[in-house]
Amino acid sequence: MKSGDPTSLDISQSDLHAMAYTDPLTGLGNPYRLRDKVRQLSTERAEDPAPFTVCIANLDGFKPINDLFGPEAGDEILCQVAHRLKACIPDGATVTRHGGDEFAFLLPLVFERKAAEKVGQMLKEVLSAPFDLGDRNVRLSASFGFAIYPFAGEDFSDILKSAETALYRSKRRGRGQITVYSQEIAQEMKRATQLEQALRNAIIANEVDVHFQPIVNLKDDTVVGFEALARWCDADLGYVSPATFVPLAEERGFIDALSDTLLRKAAEAAMNWPKELFLSFNLSSAQLMDPKTAFNTLAILNRVGLDPRRLEMEITETAMMTDAETAQKIVSELRGAGVRISLDDFGTGQSSLGRLRDFSFDKVKIDRAFVSRLTCDRASEHIVKAIVAMCEGLELEVVAEGIEDFSEALKLKALGCGMGQGYFYGKPADAVATLNLLSDRYRHIDAGPISA
Ligand code: C2E
Ligand code: MG
Ligand code: MG
Repeated sequence: MKSGDPTSLDISQSDLHAMAYTDPLTGLGNPYRLRDKVRQLSTERAEDPAPFTVCIANLDGFKPINDLFGPEAGDEILCQVAHRLKACIPDGATVTRHGGDEFAFLLPLVFERKAAEKVGQMLKEVLSAPFDLGDRNVRLSASFGFAIYPFAGEDFSDILKSAETALYRSKRRGRGQITVYSQEIAQEMKRATQLEQALRNAIIANEVDVHFQPIVNLKDDTVVGFEALARWCDADLGYVSPATFVPLAEERGFIDALSDTLLRKAAEAAMNWPKELFLSFNLSSAQLMDPKTAFNTLAILNRVGLDPRRLEMEITETAMMTDAETAQKIVSELRGAGVRISLDDFGTGQSSLGRLRDFSFDKVKIDRAFVSRLTCDRASEHIVKAIVAMCEGLELEVVAEGIEDFSEALKLKALGCGMGQGYFYGKPADAVATLNLLSDRYRHIDAGPISA
């Protein structure tokens, strides 16, 4: 049987071909288009392998915008992004969309790192202007990963993988970052993955420990509580700082498992201390964005049997900034149960005095940066003095962190600072050593049968 219109088959075939290479939402090419273009270019350059560059860009914080404004608004933004990118890419370059909020570029005339970074900067600026959603404007940023052929890979999948590694590093470093793949970056990412595996295993094997640093009343140098500090020593990697592994656990999504273990261990240790001593525990930024945090914390205290009024949670200004509404809710739930809240590292983050007024805190911890320069720098002295006076007016307790010597302690006492913490008063020590310290001071404590 003969078909009606002999051209209809041709049209639909070319339509099908176009569809197979086109992203239906934005009309840009899709990953197959990029793959074919890269293969074509590398064949052309096989004789004389002149470099070219592949880039992957990923929008920062797109998911919350999608959730907040709805998928139609999300689609609209993606179309506007596509439109801007298409209009600004250099001659001969290709831009494609790789699903979700990810876009890729083939840049045939970008040969080296500096030029790649320059293109990244330009793309970043183009995306930084507000997106018009009719009744409102939305601002976005994007992270970029670049890979240069042939150093970053000789075939399509290798070069794309390198660009992804570079993008992954950009994402880890925060918003709006640009990374060009190199051997060092590949090593850095490999180490992070090794660290992640080792940390996951250490949590399961119960090898992550918690140490305690005394916090003293500066009037009479008596211990009033302890800050719990995570400690991990891996057989192969050696000592790893919590400033490294806590953010890693946050990024890779297992901070809950880590923090729950640490809080349980810390609370168990605190059960052996005199009842008037408090336990101060650090809450990570990711936990301040998780509505389950207050419930989980109180459940652990309940299981261990520690009175919530003996617990203080240390949070930082920067952590609170990210999702202030959720943070506020967690703080008020915890305070409702009797847990006190300390503002940690005060003066170093995105300090806002308004936040001290709007949020309900019980205590402020002055960052070590001010304390360590207290005796040699007039400015630091004035800042500490002002913080102490402000806290007095706001009826907040105040702790100076990182006191390392007698002269700093003396100065803080003279400035009227209520509490102090630092190597001068005691380095972080494990549960057994902490109990020994306490048994020296409180004769009725028996340090004997307690194990770490
Ligand atoms: P942070 O909460 O501000 O803790 C104080 C840090 O200063 C600790 O470092 C402590 O060992 C150190 N330090 C105390 N006194 C002195 C001193 O006199 N001189 C000097 N140079 N340093 C002093 P550490 O234990 O390495 O912890 C670093 C950071 O890691 C902590 O800062 C905290 O933000 C985070 N962290 C530690 N443990 C945990 C944890 O269990 N959970 C969470 N989320 N974060 C934790
Ligand atoms: Mg702290
Ligand atoms: Mg601190």
